[in-house]
This record gives sequence, structure tokens and C-alpha cells, in this order.
Amino acid sequence: MIPILIPAEFDIFAKTYKIKMYENLVLARNAEGRTRFRTCQINLQKMTGSDYPRLEVERVYLHELAHVILHEIGRADLGEDEQFIELFSNAFHQVLSSGRGGEITKTFSAAAGRKRQ
Ligand SMILES: [Zn+2]
Repeated sequence: MIPILIPAEFDIFAKTYKIKMYENLVLARNAEGRTRFRTCQINLQKMTGSDYPRLEVERVYLHELAHVILHEIGRADLGEDEQFIELFSNAFHQVLSSGRGGEITKTFSAAAGRKRQ
């Protein structure tokens, strides 16, 4: 399983979202993740220990990321459907973390100068 990159920040359109880890998010907000669109911030519960917590943080991150993307493309209405968000982000996580066969673009270095189709 490939770890999903959880960056400190990322850009979407003209905004920069920052990701912050908190020790007590679950206690304070009863949530493992929370997105604040106004301040462009994703808050994640810090988890430590075995690989499972890492997997859980990744899933929560992609869940919150799905909310961000839908909000920023003007489809926040879809983001209100938590079941949709959960299914989409879990499917996205599986695709990203199960990649095999190496970095495919490295095998096409000869075509690097060609236009994308
Ligand atoms: Zn949600």
C-alpha cells in the first residue's frame, strides 16, 4: 500500500488551503477531520501508533479534500451528502494507495517533449 501524501498546504484555483494536525480535535469537535472554507484550512486529528492510524488519517484527509474540491468548483450541494463524500473519498483512497508497477511516466521519458492528448 502506497502512503498518500498529506501536504502542509495545497493550491486550488486562486486559494491555498493549509492542513493542520491537532491532538484533541475528536474531543473538542467530535470529528477526526474538519474543513473551514472561510479560512481555507483542513484540521485533522493527530493519530500515532500502528499503520492503521496512518490509513485513517489519509482517509479523513481525502474525505475533507473531497469537501474542499466540491466547494471550490461550486458544487457544495454535493458536499452535503456525507454518504457520497465517504464513498467517493474511500474509492479515491483505494485507487491512490493501491498503485502498482512503478511510476509509469518514467517509462515515457522519450516522449517527454510531446504534447499531451
Ligand atoms: Zn464530511
